[in-house]
Amino acid sequence: MANKMKAAQISKAGGDWELVERDVPEPGVGQVRVKVEACGICHSDVVVKDGIWPGLQYPRVPGHEVGGRIDAIGDNVAAWQQGQRVGVGWHGGHDFTCEQCRRGDFAMCSNRKVTGVDFDGGYQEYMIAPASAVAAIPGDLPAEEAGPFMCAGVTVFNALRNSGARAGDVVAVHGVGGLGHLGVQYARRMGFNTVAINRGKDKEELARQLGAHHYIDANATDVVSELQKLGGASVILATAPSAPAISGLVDGLAASGKLLVPAVPLEPLSISVFPLMAKRSSVVGWYSGTAKDSQDTMEFSALSGVHPMIEKYPFDQVAVAYEQMHRGRARFRVVLTFD
Ligand SMILES: [Zn+2]
Ligand SMILES: [Zn+2]
Repeated sequence: MANKMKAAQISKAGGDWELVERDVPEPGVGQVRVKVEACGICHSDVVVKDGIWPGLQYPRVPGHEVGGRIDAIGDNVAAWQQGQRVGVGWHGGHDFTCEQCRRGDFAMCSNRKVTGVDFDGGYQEYMIAPASAVAAIPGDLPAEEAGPFMCAGVTVFNALRNSGARAGDVVAVHGVGGLGHLGVQYARRMGFNTVAINRGKDKEELARQLGAHHYIDANATDVVSELQKLGGASVILATAPSAPAISGLVDGLAASGKLLVPAVPLEPLSISVFPLMAKRSSVVGWYSGTAKDSQDTMEFSALSGVHPMIEKYPFDQVAVAYEQMHRGRARFRVVLTFD
């Protein structure tokens, strides 16, 4: 094989995309090398582009929605084989030794790494990943669909399946976008009475096609009273990063309901505590999941027919593709593809 490859890097905060040639990296102990076939562009890649991650070191190759194939294996890797199809996601590995890891809660590792932030990610032809951070891609799931499942997919799938909601409960997904269009599909297929909430009528038909039983137009109607007509939501998955809109959802919860927030709005939330107290409801964050959670996400998706809606761009169009994501024009996930 060639010993040089193409990579897209950022070399300073706010810097432009640079297409560079690098040596193909060799996997160290406990690592694998992945030949990247597709890599999703996630809104979180902004932390590398704009330099808003503490301790970030440049140059950095972003990308944590990777679908590809293992093409080399370092020492002390037992579980993976050359040629195996794998994904690499946001969770970039854990130390196995901190208090959380000793309890088996690897996603909460005090020294966890983030792919494409703490080490170079998937905007390149080959990447190195810790063996603990790769997930097996099931069956013939295409690499360009596997990629978005490794961050957007696992985030909403894992949030919903751990939410405590039970079959038949009202579960609302706020925002039909990059996360939300997957959230609606998962909520429906997990057996929830599924509500999609978005501004305007534009996305109503799509939301219903994705599986929503109900659609609430947040421009035309009062979201809270519409949710209360359904008995209140056991869970509201808030995927639209608007602090005022999210804050206003609390009153739409049922007793003991949860407002689940897996995406970060720029502004702090402003929430009255009385309705939380009176209904024993809560506002909780959700943080991604491990590689095994991502594998579960892909397996559930393949089993139940969940698909990300993607726009594909060849790798050397990274600057155009990133802008498409950044300006919110994509429907709904942008994916770089490699020859
Ligand atoms: Zn992401
Ligand atoms: Zn740990």
